[in-house]
Amino acid sequence: DTHKETLEFKAEVSQVLDLVIRSLYSNKEIFLRELVSNASDASEKLRFEALTDDGLFEDDPNLRIRVTVDPEAGTLTVSDNGIGMARQEVVDTIGSIASSGTRRFLENLSGDRAKDSQLIGQFGVGFYSAFIVADKVTLITRRAGLGAEHGVRWESDGGGNFSVETLTKTGRGTDVILHLKEDEKEFLDGWRLRSIIGKFSDHIALPVEMRKEPLGDEDKEKADEAPEWEQVNRGTALWMRNKAEISAEEYADFYKHVSHDFDEPLAHVHNRVEGTNEYTTLLFIPKRAPWDLWDREQRHGVKLYVRRVFIMDEVDKLLPHYLRFVKGVVDADDLPLNVSRELLQHNRKIDTIRQANTKRILGLLETMAKDEPEKYAEFWREFGRVIKEGPAEDFANRERVAGLMRFSTTHGEGEEQTESLDAYIERMKEGQDKIYYITADTPAAARYSPHLEVFRKKGIEVLLLSDRVDEWLVSHLSEYKGKHLQSVAKGKLDLGELADKEEQEKTEQAAAEHGQLLERLKKALGDRVNEVRASTRLVDSPACLVVGDYDMSANLARVLKAVGQ
Ligand code: ADP
Ligand code: MG
Repeated sequence: DTHKETLEFKAEVSQVLDLVIRSLYSNKEIFLRELVSNASDASEKLRFEALTDDGLFEDDPNLRIRVTVDPEAGTLTVSDNGIGMARQEVVDTIGSIASSGTRRFLENLSGDRAKDSQLIGQFGVGFYSAFIVADKVTLITRRAGLGAEHGVRWESDGGGNFSVETLTKTGRGTDVILHLKEDEKEFLDGWRLRSIIGKFSDHIALPVEMRKEPLGDEDKEKADEAPEWEQVNRGTALWMRNKAEISAEEYADFYKHVSHDFDEPLAHVHNRVEGTNEYTTLLFIPKRAPWDLWDREQRHGVKLYVRRVFIMDEVDKLLPHYLRFVKGVVDADDLPLNVSRELLQHNRKIDTIRQANTKRILGLLETMAKDEPEKYAEFWREFGRVIKEGPAEDFANRERVAGLMRFSTTHGEGEEQTESLDAYIERMKEGQDKIYYITADTPAAARYSPHLEVFRKKGIEVLLLSDRVDEWLVSHLSEYKGKHLQSVAKGKLDLGELADKEEQEKTEQAAAEHGQLLERLKKALGDRVNEVRASTRLVDSPACLVVGDYDMSANLARVLKAVGQ
């Protein structure tokens, strides 16, 4: 079917378009980043498919992106000779959003303009940013490997519909032509464009070319006859460059490119590993938790390259799940180019890379905690609850991960988690050999629990655990640096050396004196309790409930009930 048809955007698309235009306006030059980034993705896809079918290169093997302007027509064009699209692909990907991305984007909208505009990039609605500056967009494309007669022309004014028709296009790839709005003509200025492209696209491993700016009228005539192109970005993959020569700003721009984040990263690590398994990693820690940090379907933000060829996105084998907030690139020299997801599952080289990546991120966090405590506090606020999943998942590193944790404790006042286990150990009382903790639903329930009375009296610090993940954490972290982690709400309170003789005697005496009362209480409560006993653990409260050493804690029982177990 080659006729021209006019189709309606899916309802979601119109909604997204509207939002993109409104919320990104203050940042409008990002449209160029999005279009150049799509052109670069398309070229990487071609390079990848050509590994198994080099006919796809046709007679045009040099991949590049070109940005041109036509001042008379008022248009700006971004062209690539990448993979291109077939007619149905255009309708599916540009016209309606077949992927669930947009739908999920809409579900996640908060109504807060700033937050929502951050979301946009994460969901891949980048193409629509063209409508920030254009009142009409024409896309002309041809899929590599299809004949010239399979070209497609798509056009829309960003209203409710778009048209598609089939035409002839000799070169493969895609041209995106923006018909600039009346007051966006600044984007016809070659120097302005060069500066934007430099900022956003320097690190793209592909040349971005523009026509040489003619200097005089004579030049202009010559230029129109035989256009001369010049590369306006650096065109080398940033991660392959020497660390010493990369500025903080370049790292930040690259981070924004790989993560779609608008913010700068919090920190990065960049390493080249030589030897039997050679690879380069460039990993970033974001400042803010992404919207889908707790989404089960969340994929990981590390891209895999093999010898500069992009292989796949969001690989979840390059880092453990509890470090899923990390973004970046791994470029391996020794993997086969046709590596598949299945192959990654059981690949020894990947395992080595994953272990090394884990150590690097943990090392980065340790250094940050030591040298930049405020920055680390910011990190912990955003990602602490994810790090707490670590000991359960990563047995080998559990002590290092535990060392990174911060808790609210009875040593301090507020709810903020600021105390490390090492600091706790330093403050331990003479004769104390355990790390005590209490778990509860809320920070207040933990802090004001009657279980803490005796600890307060004796000045023994207790960790106050009220994050949902904390029960999970303590069930997998039974000790730290040789100190057992002990719940204060379990079993007979064994204060070991800390309990004084006098108190023990008092307890025995009380048990004897009130034996009858204890009996009667036990009888009255029947099956609901195992035992009723006298204790010195209470100071102000008359009674408290404890669970057996090997029973599920009361709080865990509540958590499981809440999730329907
Ligand atoms: P994303 O790049 O995150 O997927 P975009 O809105 O930027 O989201 O692009 C949507 C889709 O349109 C892309 O995934 C791709 O399939 C297609 N596309 C956009 N630009 C190009 C291009 N220059 N060449 C080939 N396909 C493209
Ligand atoms: Mg894109």
